Amino acid sequence: MWIDTHCHLDAAEFAGEQTLVAAAAQQQDVSWIVIPAVARANFATVAALAAQLPNCTYALGIHPLYVPQAEEADLLALRNTIAAALADPRFVAIGEIGLDFFVPGMESGPLRDKQEHFYVEQLKLAREFDLPVLLHVRRSQDILLKHLRRIKVQGGIAHAFNGSFQQAEAFIGLGFRLGFGGAMTFTRALQIRRLAAELPLDALVLETDAPDMAPAWLHPDINQPQQIPRIGAVLAELRGMAVPELAQATAANARAALPRLAALA
Ligand SMILES: [Zn+2]
Repeated sequence: MWIDTHCHLDAAEFAGEQTLVAAAAQQQDVSWIVIPAVARANFATVAALAAQLPNCTYALGIHPLYVPQAEEADLLALRNTIAAALADPRFVAIGEIGLDFFVPGMESGPLRDKQEHFYVEQLKLAREFDLPVLLHVRRSQDILLKHLRRIKVQGGIAHAFNGSFQQAEAFIGLGFRLGFGGAMTFTRALQIRRLAAELPLDALVLETDAPDMAPAWLHPDINQPQQIPRIGAVLAELRGMAVPELAQATAANARAALPRLAALA
């Protein structure tokens, strides 16, 4: 079995097609899909998708690229939504949260400060409720790590990981797994492929980030969670492993990173 640890199934690209997309993934043995929230406006949507679709779970959080429009009251709404969601077994993590210093205007000034504020406050919620976090990491590894050293959470997944081996080891040391997906399928992505090939197997999980991050064979079409086995086969090849073993190991890692998902049947 496979697990897609990061898929934006509520995105506009999948409008009206979510049931088909989730079922196509299940036919490819993708037993679980994690749907992260991005803003207060989609908390109810991701929860409803997970309730309707047999292989879907969800996370709750405010994505760094949605922080510019977010209000302070959204953090209180998030806290209340998390407290209520604890009764829902399909709720598995805080996310997607993090810092994006790649998008122009987000890397300095008031938007950087606001991003850090929302990230820190959401880490505190993860600590308060003892939940794993799904991290968005873009040109922000060291600042994310700085706050993780200060605000201890149980761990989680650094999604679409790209960085140095030293940064990867720092995340792993803080209890994180690293998410690999479509980017790894491009032969020119030398650093990501080296990380995927050489990091300890128990640190790796698979993800699509669908509809984004289409693998090489789909690009520039939209990505879908049914691509996970083929993406996993690329990782198996990079590591010189058999595909079934890689599937089993990465699914076990996803369960270890997301204990509430592991508790599902
Ligand atoms: Zn995402």
